Amino acid sequence: MSATVLDGKRVADALCGDLRARAATCVARGNPPTLAVVLVGDDPASRVYVRNKGRRAAEVGIVTRDHHLPAATTTAELVGLVQQLSDDPAVHGILVQLPLPAGIDSQAILLAIDPAKDVDGFHPDNLGRLMIGRPRFVPCTPAGCMRLLAAADVAIRGRRALVIGRSTIVGKPMAQLLLAADATVICAHSRTMALADEIAAADIVVAAVGRAEFVRGAWIKPGAAVIDVGINRRADGSLCGDVEFAAAAERAAVITPVPGGVGPMTIACLLANVVTAAEQA
Ligand code: NAD
Repeated sequence: MSATVLDGKRVADALCGDLRARAATCVARGNPPTLAVVLVGDDPASRVYVRNKGRRAAEVGIVTRDHHLPAATTTAELVGLVQQLSDDPAVHGILVQLPLPAGIDSQAILLAIDPAKDVDGFHPDNLGRLMIGRPRFVPCTPAGCMRLLAAADVAIRGRRALVIGRSTIVGKPMAQLLLAADATVICAHSRTMALADEIAAADIVVAAVGRAEFVRGAWIKPGAAVIDVGINRRADGSLCGDVEFAAAAERAAVITPVPGGVGPMTIACLLANVVTAAEQA
C-alpha cells in the first residue's frame, strides 16, 4: 500500500479537544451548550446513532436532552415539539434524527427548526447561505470531509474534484464546499455516463453512493486523494465503504478507511456546530 491512511478518529479527537475547552468557557458563563435530540420510532440504526452522538457530546461537555417519541407521532405533534425547542433559550441545537417514519412530512419538520439552531445544516436557510458563500451551519459529513482534506494537507485550489452522489445531506453540500475552496468540481450521480473515466481524471474523489466497494481501485488516478463516505454492510456483517479500499490505496496518495474515516468526523462536526450555536446565543 502506498497511500497515507487518514485516521478520522485521531482528527476528530483533536477537534473534540478544542471543543471541550470552548464548551467549558460556555459553562463558566452559565450557558452550557445544549443539544436537543429528537428520535421518532424504533429504527435500530437510528437508536445506535443517537446513542453514539449522546456519548460523544457528554465527553465534550455538551448537555443532551433526549426526546424519544412513538412511531405514531403526527407531523403536527412533531412540528409542535420542534417549535417549542426552537423557542427555548436554553436549547442551542436541535437534531431530528433521520429518517423519520413514513407518515411524517420531513420537510415540514425541517422548516420548523430555527435556522440558528439547525446544527445539522439541512434547513434551506443554511443550505442557501452555503450556496452564496456565507455559511453558518454546514452539513456535518461534508464539513468533516473538508477537515480531513485539510488535516492531510491536500491541495484543493485549481484541482479537479469529483463528488459521487448528489444527496442534499452529503453530495450537493460537498460539491459546494469544494467549489468554495476553488476546486473544479464535477458532481456524478446515478445517471452519469462513463463514471470510471471521470474518476480516472479526478485529483480528489469523494464517494457518497451507498454501494459496497462500488469504486474500483484501478479507476483511481495515481496520487489522488480519496474520501470514502459510504457505510455499507457486507454479507458477513462487516462494514466497508463505497471504495475498494486495498486496491485504491495502492494508487491514491491519501485515503480514508471505513470505519474510522469520515464517520467520527461527522459526529465531531455536529458537536462543533452545537458549541458554535451556544457561543453565538
Ligand atoms: P443517498 O442514497 O441519498 O444518495 C446516494 C447517491 O448516490 C445518489 O445521489 C445517487 O445519484 C448516487 N448514485 C447511486 N447509484 C449511482 C451510480 N451507479 N453511479 C453514480 N452515482 C450513483 O445517500 P446519502 O445519504 O448521500 O449517503 C451515501 C452513503 O454515505 C451511504 O452509504 C450512507 O450510509 C453514507 N453516509 C455516511 C455518513 C458518515 O458519517 N460517514 C453520513 C451520511 C451518509
